[in-house]
Amino acid sequence: MDSIKIKDKTFVVSIKEKDIQKEIIRVAGEINRDLVGKNPIFLCVLNGAFMFAADLMKRITIPCEISFVKLASYRGLMSSGKIKEVIGLNEDITDRTVVIVEDIVDTGLTMQRLIESLGTRSPKEIHIASLLVKPEKLVVELNIEYAAMSIPNDFIVGFGLDYDGYGRNYPDIYTVTEEG
Ligand code: 5GP
Repeated sequence: MDSIKIKDKTFVVSIKEKDIQKEIIRVAGEINRDLVGKNPIFLCVLNGAFMFAADLMKRITIPCEISFVKLASYRGLMSSGKIKEVIGLNEDITDRTVVIVEDIVDTGLTMQRLIESLGTRSPKEIHIASLLVKPEKLVVELNIEYAAMSIPNDFIVGFGLDYDGYGRNYPDIYTVTEEG
């Protein structure tokens, strides 16, 4: 499928599954090389990273664990902004090598908040693996060691990413078109 329609928007294919898989294999190879002997725990950030995590983990050959977390947004009593809390993490990550597995880093604020929150649980180190990065949008300094692909500042869906809940199921990545 070269284009898809979700609700009011039209999306055209921009990254084919074959090319996504090639980059995931590359990233997995780098993680296998860098984190050997570290017994890492991968934290897949739901919902968006489920497909990336599934394909990445199939290529990880070193001993490791995988767990799943969600970010819940709520408004703090003292703050006007939204606070994102990590929920669903039952494993003890004290002194562990943690690899956050995310779908996309846009401004980087979500990732920064996640690192802050996980940091309070005394991990040994935290690494970032993200399927996609939009470098032009980054507003915080982040060391994204394992980025599968960089993309321009456009809204995309597919391969786990959604528009209003839809589109996560597509094996390719699609970019929104101007005409809507
Ligand atoms: P950030 O905090 O880095 O600005 O935003 C990260 C989150 O915004 C991602 O985890 C994702 O949920 C959402 N996001 C950012 N860009 C896109 C995009 O192009 N498509 C979709 N579907 N979600 C996006």
